[in-house]
Formats: sequence, structure tokens, C-alpha cells
Amino acid sequence: MKLLFTLSGSSGSGKTTLLDLLSRDLAINISVSYTTREKREYEVDGLHYYFVSKDEFDSLINNDMFIEYENVHGDLYGTTKEEVEHYLSERKPLFLELDVKGALNLKKIYPEDVVSIFLSAPNFNELENRLIHRSSESEEEIEKRLSRFSEEENLKKEFDYTVINDNFESTFEELKKMILSMIKED
Ligand code: 5GP
Repeated sequence: MKLLFTLSGSSGSGKTTLLDLLSRDLAINISVSYTTREKREYEVDGLHYYFVSKDEFDSLINNDMFIEYENVHGDLYGTTKEEVEHYLSERKPLFLELDVKGALNLKKIYPEDVVSIFLSAPNFNELENRLIHRSSESEEEIEKRLSRFSEEENLKKEFDYTVINDNFESTFEELKKMILSMIKED
């Protein structure tokens, strides 16, 4: 049985929406990370992220609270040891939405438990369109996210699975089937 499912992919690849629906459908929790990024209007502190200042984040680092953390688009994001260890000890599956480096690091730490999934946008133009249409980021932020696209695409071969999100319904079904088969007790 696999317990830690990481989902990574370019910003705008549809990760958050997919994870949200999968977590409800499969009754699997989503890990809540800490971040120094500013809260978006629709986000809820403690549900989407724990929003903290740079100083608070630094103190969590100094207290060795994180199993992994990364600087993504200029902000810090981290997952606590406590969050991951809790689900591992309870033998309950957990979803984690991590950037590519974070996911590959977690896989190194827990090679037996982690299934790393890379969600690909069909192509660069599609990604650009999605980011512009969701209009939650400024132009500068969109540029930062797009510039990571090729870097992220280059790392995708290191993931256990790559799924192209060209059709939401079929991607959802594919992921659901894949995950269901892996959360069965051995
Ligand atoms: P956003 O600001 O759009 O919510 O997230 C930006 C990026 O940070 C996404 O790629 C997301 O997967 C990643 N991210 C969120 N939480 C964590 C975390 O705890 N660790 C790492 N390494 N990346 C994270």
C-alpha cells in the first residue's frame, strides 16, 4: 500500500482543482503546507496553507520542523515532518501538492511510501491561457510561473507517473483509478 501521493506540475496545469476533487471522492486528506506567499482572496488560512511571515518561516526552519521546503517563485513553501509522520504512522494515505524539487526530495526520503505524479499541461500556450484566465496572479507573477515551465518539464522523467491534463474528466478518472489501485492493503 502506498501512502504519500505527491502531485506536481506547472502552475496552471490544473493540480489544485484535481486534487481537491480527488481528495473528496477518495476521502484522502491533503497536506497543508506553510508558505510566506500572500494569501489569495479565496484562500483560507489553515485550510489551503498556513500563511506565515518570513521570520516565522525561518524559525520553523531553525527548529527543524520541515521535512522539505523550497523557494518557489520567490516565496517559501514547506511541509512539516509532523504532518507526514502523522499520516504514515496512522497508515492513512495523504496527498501533497509540491513543486518538482520538493516531490523528488520527498521520494528520496520515503522511497517506499511516495508515489510521485507529474501533471503536465498539454502545451505552453494552453498553460499561458489558463494562467491568464484564472486571473489570480499579476502579469509579473504569470511570467515567473511560465519561465519555470521548461525547467519543470525537464524534470518530469524522474517522476513515477506523468499525466497530461488535456481533458479534465479523463485525467480525473485516470488518476482516480491509479490511486485506488495503490491504496489497497497488500
Ligand atoms: P501556489 O503559490 O500556486 O499555491 O503554489 C506554488 C507552488 O508551490 C506549486 O507548485 C505548489 O505545488 C508548491 N508548493 C506548495 N506547497 C509546497 C510545499 O510544502 N513544498 C514544496 N516544495 N512546494 C510546495
